[in-house]
Amino acid sequence: MKLFEKYPVQLSNSLTGVKEKFESITPGFVGMYVCGPTVYNYVHLGNARTFLSFDIISRYLRFIGYKVRYVRNITDVGHLVGDVDEGEDKIGKKARLEQLEPMEIVMRYTEDFHTVMRQFNILPPSIEPSATGHIVEQINITKKLIDLGIAYEVNGSVYFDVKKYNQSYHYGILSGRNIEELMESGRDLDSQDEKREKIDFALWKKASPEHIMRWPSPWGEGFPGWHIECTVMSTKYLGETFDIHGGGMDLKFPHHECEIAQATAANGKPPVRYWVHSNMLTVNGQKMSKSLGNSFLPSELFSGNHKLLEKGYSPMTVRFFMLQSHYSSTLDFSNEALNAAEKGFKKLNNTLSIIKTWGHPKTATINTEVEKNLLNQIGNCFKNMSDDFNTAKTLAVLFEMASQINIWAAAKQLNVSESVFEKFKFTYVAMMEEVLGLKEEAGGNNELLAGTVNVLINLRKKARTDKNFALSDKIRDDLKAIGIQLKDGKDGEMSYEIEN
Ligand code: AMP
Ligand code: ZN
Repeated sequence: MKLFEKYPVQLSNSLTGVKEKFESITPGFVGMYVCGPTVYNYVHLGNARTFLSFDIISRYLRFIGYKVRYVRNITDVGHLVGDVDEGEDKIGKKARLEQLEPMEIVMRYTEDFHTVMRQFNILPPSIEPSATGHIVEQINITKKLIDLGIAYEVNGSVYFDVKKYNQSYHYGILSGRNIEELMESGRDLDSQDEKREKIDFALWKKASPEHIMRWPSPWGEGFPGWHIECTVMSTKYLGETFDIHGGGMDLKFPHHECEIAQATAANGKPPVRYWVHSNMLTVNGQKMSKSLGNSFLPSELFSGNHKLLEKGYSPMTVRFFMLQSHYSSTLDFSNEALNAAEKGFKKLNNTLSIIKTWGHPKTATINTEVEKNLLNQIGNCFKNMSDDFNTAKTLAVLFEMASQINIWAAAKQLNVSESVFEKFKFTYVAMMEEVLGLKEEAGGNNELLAGTVNVLINLRKKARTDKNFALSDKIRDDLKAIGIQLKDGKDGEMSYEIEN
């Protein structure tokens, strides 16, 4: 029996608004598409949170036995300034300002994005397609939508006819927006003259003479609209209907609503079974965003080099901080919360490095009550993760497990059978490292740290022998300041303890 049969996944589907039992289209396989970054700037911590949420989903689905094809794109064309249908391309604008080729901008920020993903231990997707690599497919689907009478060409641009679509399907099915209200309230743009209704959106835009990024098409030189790239890349690699489509909550409308409309009109069926939206990282209750000036770069967070930060935090501390809340809740950034996360992660990290070195001694006085408790904890890790990927509740169970490890460490013996111990150890290590992606970080009881502290202990012994008490005290005090307490034992022996 596969783990996904034993612990069936329930997930909140934004399309239906309820938590549903997850059933993949092809048993045992999952196709998941997530909107990737627009690579015109450094990724901030908010972006990282979204990609972390889907990293957890793909990691857990794989862990419980699914074969997952995870597609996350790179938006390198078509996303216009202001997220609307006209104006400059975000990448083209940056290229103009920096006097670089658009593809130099794309390369620089894609590289940065990958570095940040690696720092946070966010695994690469199975396929990372780019919008510029799929211009032909975007032109083809646009042609198809024109042939179907659901899109129209005006002056070299092609627009999707939302009203027409809504006669056969439901525009607003995902976001709950009402088409009449949208037609009234839409923004007045220059391209309004070309559109039949304000609510129509661009599939292809004619390039003005100064527009840098341009391709030939049946309608003249131009570039694709923002929404069509995701429709093309998701269905190309995952099929006309696939299991999960994810992205940040802010993409629900119009981006995802338009994706549904395009794919449904082109293929006659809805593209996605489960829509999953992760919530925003906020600062003092406001969405973290580059334009509001309240964003942090991950590198600023690691170094502590930012006016809003008291000090730096390690990537795994930040990852832990984010996993303490459910992906569908907002998460507010604060120094206090990060300090608390640092302590919490340290405890889990220490017990992780301790238990990894342990084997069962084969003999133990067995306490059946403890065994029962541990088997419950193991089951609860899976139950919580299968319950809409609840990392916060899973961490709470891992803390109970960490306390048990500390009890064993203090007693210097185990009180459970080998089979229970092995299950417990496997679950703790796998939940930490494989599912939550919380890598062991130096600072735990690892060998390198132990070796380094022993060098200092020997130097301190030498200082004492030399009657250099000032130096001996300094070594002790400096170690204490970073949370390592030296203990003088019998016969001049010294040991150390890491404070939690
Ligand atoms: P972009 O590069 O602007 O297309 O955004 C990349 C991803 O980051 C999208 O899925 C956004 O929804 C997401 N995102 C942007 N700001 C935040 C934030 N403050 N918190 C969480 N996710 C965000
Ligand atoms: Zn997208």
